[in-house]
Amino acid sequence: MLYSPDMDNPRKAKLFSYAGPSLKGFDAVFFSVSFELDYINLIKMLMISSIPPLCNERQQDSRRPGAVVITGGIAVTANPEIISAFSDIVFIGDMEENLEKILYILVQKIFVTGRKIPGRTHKNDIPMSYRLFEELSAVDGVYIAGNSGNAGKTSAPKRSILKDIAQPAHSVVLTGGTEFSNMFLIEIVRGCRGTCLFCATRCATGPVRQVRKKVVLSIIAKARPETGRVGLIGPVLTDNDELVEIVEAINDMGFRAAFSSLRADEYSDTLAGLLVKNRQNTVTFAPETGSFRLRKKIGKNLTDEDLLKAVSLSVEHGIKNIRFYIMYGLPGEKIEDIKATADLVKRTAGLLKKPGCTLHLSVNPFVPKKGTPFGAWKVSPESYYINMREILTCELKGTERVSLKFDPLRNFYIHSLLSIGTRETGLKLYNCLIKKSLKSFGRYAREVLLE
Ligand code: SF4
Repeated sequence: MLYSPDMDNPRKAKLFSYAGPSLKGFDAVFFSVSFELDYINLIKMLMISSIPPLCNERQQDSRRPGAVVITGGIAVTANPEIISAFSDIVFIGDMEENLEKILYILVQKIFVTGRKIPGRTHKNDIPMSYRLFEELSAVDGVYIAGNSGNAGKTSAPKRSILKDIAQPAHSVVLTGGTEFSNMFLIEIVRGCRGTCLFCATRCATGPVRQVRKKVVLSIIAKARPETGRVGLIGPVLTDNDELVEIVEAINDMGFRAAFSSLRADEYSDTLAGLLVKNRQNTVTFAPETGSFRLRKKIGKNLTDEDLLKAVSLSVEHGIKNIRFYIMYGLPGEKIEDIKATADLVKRTAGLLKKPGCTLHLSVNPFVPKKGTPFGAWKVSPESYYINMREILTCELKGTERVSLKFDPLRNFYIHSLLSIGTRETGLKLYNCLIKKSLKSFGRYAREVLLE
């Protein structure tokens, strides 16, 4: 049976069948969070399961002992506080190496000496005790902040960084009922060589570590009988020096691939050819802004020339759709920067000479991220973003072969507060979700950010 926070979404509800508590009997539940808005889903998932969302509630609930909630991932590593009231263990960094240590301590202290072994009952239930927290806190990457009066560290712990990715993360369940329907996802690089100052991924994922081609290919070969679709995952795929060889092999194996991101200044004629051979119709780049001045200020050292060359190569090879990720509301932004974006878009549109080619602009307001140099940047009132949107729309009016899509501002303040907020922010979100009123959390976020 599948369970999802989307169950109350009428469009998706039919995919799921909800028949009562779903996580009952699980000893531990792990969440990996890459995107801050998923904290909403995480709390909702706990709410619809049998596990009380708050650590304090769980430890008081003697009827359901042993449900330990462990959270990690990029968003959590960048800001461990938000989720701290809900996580018995917040994990900061790469968990692989320390996972065994954590499980060993949990199994010894809770599940073996406690009463969680099936078929065995113990009179002396061992709660998440002071000693247990003390032992867990000694493991690199473990941050225990969910419990008052425990031995957990109150300052952020040493981040755990894996030297090599010998065993990349990959799909273990293939199903048609998820966002990446029946696609086998595999990580080919962790960390990023980029220098973008706004980016939480760069700050949270550590140095670049490539997964060797041999390892990637041996894993996806096993998935081939199950699916013809493979998704390559990494902050920037071109940071894997063997990307071209990996794509060549994927093509030979008859996979249709999806590429999470490519860097325009590392794009090549060979790669464009391989993408077309793989029947890719769209290629995505992230210039962030058309203003070179602003791009440099935010640490994105991409030149207009590199970007335009990457677009030309794609079009020459027959790729029809070019997608740009653009941000506005960036620190130090001026009206001239928005006009520079319009100018770069027009120059790019001029390269789309082949019939059917379109430049798709996905335009999002800048969201400050904790742990980055711009983490303390104060967001602006809505009127600023509306004004900048109007200027960009007006500047691009009548430009052919361009489609412009603004991300709605609806979730902007929620996303910003969940990126830079505190433990109180997480608790406030929970209270609003209990009242089924995400809107009131939105109002709260706006007030806090603009005060
Ligand atoms: S290239 Fe992308 S992932 Fe890397 S630092 Fe810049 S924005 Fe972040």
